[in-house]
Amino acid sequence: MKEGEPKLGIEKEEQPEKEKELTPEKIKDFQFYIDQVGHLIEVGEYDQAIDALSNKSKLETVGWKFEENSLGFTKNITKADVRQFCEYIGPRSWCDGLLKRIEVVRPYPVNKDIKIPQELKHEVSLLYIEEWLHVLQGLKGEPLTEMADKIAQKIAKKIAKKVAKEVQEDPKSKWTYSQAYSQQYSREYHGKKDEIDVTFYMYQLGIPLTDRFLDYYNRREALEILEKLEHEKHKKHKK
Ligand SMILES: [Zn+2]
Repeated sequence: MKEGEPKLGIEKEEQPEKEKELTPEKIKDFQFYIDQVGHLIEVGEYDQAIDALSNKSKLETVGWKFEENSLGFTKNITKADVRQFCEYIGPRSWCDGLLKRIEVVRPYPVNKDIKIPQELKHEVSLLYIEEWLHVLQGLKGEPLTEMADKIAQKIAKKIAKKVAKEVQEDPKSKWTYSQAYSQQYSREYHGKKDEIDVTFYMYQLGIPLTDRFLDYYNRREALEILEKLEHEKHKKHKK
């Protein structure tokens, strides 16, 4: 209820239909919120960023649910352990488009002597914002960045060609080159396009991306292609 509205002494169980309706303004506002969180990550305010990305009511404005699981740490985590923890947390953090639900894992120290290293907080903030960006992709129904789709196609083609060649050379294979190519292409393209799009969006926001993050879904390669294209475009403009 807004301030200044008369209190009627009754509570509506359901939100009025109008408030539940997904409007372009709500999507714009949601995107602006994510962009601001991106800035927090950029300047290393990881705790604030993770808190902002645990904001259930913000996600509810666009009809999504948020679920956070916690992982308690009983001993100090060293820099070297960070990747191992991310490999645990990462696969347990996802965005379920069908159920409109985000699920993420948040590490916390079980007592005050234990410290969570900044490196792990950085990784966790990337995992969280990644899921929020997948929500934004779903709301918009189109890629968030211009080049992601094209570059995902390029990478998928390259991988599919390699796989199809291996299939062709295998005497035991019943597949033709083109069967293997089209199956592999579709798998690679659909598995990576949204992930590459999210990567480009984060990169354009100025969020520092970690090695672990770039190790998945050919993100590093995609970013290298993007940077090369941007460099060429820049050179052309200068001429
Ligand atoms: Zn993802």
